[in-house]
Amino acid sequence: MPWAAIPPSNLTFEQARCVVEEHAAKMRPTEKESAELPESEGRILAEPIMADRDFPPFPRATRDGYAVRAADLVGLPAKLRVLGEIKAGAALDSRLRLQAAEAIAIMTGAPAPSGADAVVMLEHTSQHGDTVEISRGVSAGENIVPAGAEARRGSQLLSPGTRLEHAAIAVAASAGKAHVRVYVKPQVAIIATGDEIVELDVRPSPTQIRNSNSYSLAAQVRASGGEPVILPIAPDEPNRLRELISEGLEADLLLLTGGVSMGKHDLVEIVLVELGAEFFFTGALIQPGRPVVFGRMPRGSGGERSGIPGYTYFFGLPGNPVSTMVTFELFARPVLEALSGRTPRKLVFLHARLKSEIKTKTGLKRFLPAIVSGEFEQAAVELVPWQGSGDVAATARANCYVVIPPDRGRIPAGEWVAVLKD
Ligand code: AMP
Ligand code: MG
Repeated sequence: MPWAAIPPSNLTFEQARCVVEEHAAKMRPTEKESAELPESEGRILAEPIMADRDFPPFPRATRDGYAVRAADLVGLPAKLRVLGEIKAGAALDSRLRLQAAEAIAIMTGAPAPSGADAVVMLEHTSQHGDTVEISRGVSAGENIVPAGAEARRGSQLLSPGTRLEHAAIAVAASAGKAHVRVYVKPQVAIIATGDEIVELDVRPSPTQIRNSNSYSLAAQVRASGGEPVILPIAPDEPNRLRELISEGLEADLLLLTGGVSMGKHDLVEIVLVELGAEFFFTGALIQPGRPVVFGRMPRGSGGERSGIPGYTYFFGLPGNPVSTMVTFELFARPVLEALSGRTPRKLVFLHARLKSEIKTKTGLKRFLPAIVSGEFEQAAVELVPWQGSGDVAATARANCYVVIPPDRGRIPAGEWVAVLKD
């Protein structure tokens, strides 16, 4: 067996993550397409979005009140003559210019008239006939956003690589982009392996297990900007496994689950080696997910695809359902995001107070399903009771993972701990 070709299985979490990030940093999507803005949520921008006008396009009042000259409000209360009213959407009257001791009633979102340098909030005013009495001063610039202060016409509002979430969609809409150029989603092949695994439409025998990994992975792939392609279940038998892996390598990324532990029937790495794979790691000091495998396969002269020219990357994720989910989040997600064109991001951990003591063995960094509750400074987190990394039901009740450093055998209640939450 060519085990010599198989490299480290004891990288720390940070080392393994770093290896993945280094490869991901070199990956690029190749194809672009057009998407209608309302349908573009979650897609990755492939073009810059430029300001087609000044933002705001006119000096915008940000309060209901009176447009004034700040200098007129030095002695209080001040009495100013009201010239009229400007509503949002009102055309700018270029002849109108506010003079000393004059004011104009103005609405939020309306263009401030020339001559005015501030807006006094309605709450500090009372109007009698065409005179307004103002009880509070303002400084110049208060409650008016100057034209172009948010962005100048022609400047860049969004850069390629931005994920189109609600705020970015608002920006594109503000710039009049009914269609946006986005990257074509990478195709991600998913192969579940194991003689005991059966499809959903099969009635399992007492010792068979229904395939859940292909479906949890497909959901995670979609959430990370990819297009899942679920292939048939591979048995623990090299010929069919080889056939399916070869098919899976046609995608932009291949995810396998199961068959990467040290068991006699764990054939995934062996078949990958035979097919000419290069491995970057075959395990990491984490739990769940210790036997996780990351590597790539040289690719024939196929069509131009996303990634690094000449290679198809793959992950062998451990088959225990929670291990599959966690290792996807920790390692496969950054690769998939890179293939989808998204600007790389670092993992972000929140912090919460531990509700009850945790005791574990040292040596592995642990990501344990937990429930975080409480708002503001009250965030508290508690492990979900579980039966280990096969317990999907426990994980479905959880809403985060508590992260336990490898050198901590005991963490007392009340300590602030890192929490991984999507
Ligand atoms: P393995 O990594 O192949 O040793 O599998 C570890 C455990 O995960 C075993 O108990 C398998 O039955 C279970 N398992 C493997 N693949 C799947 C799958 N696709 N869906 C649900 N459970 C799985
Ligand atoms: Mg197996």
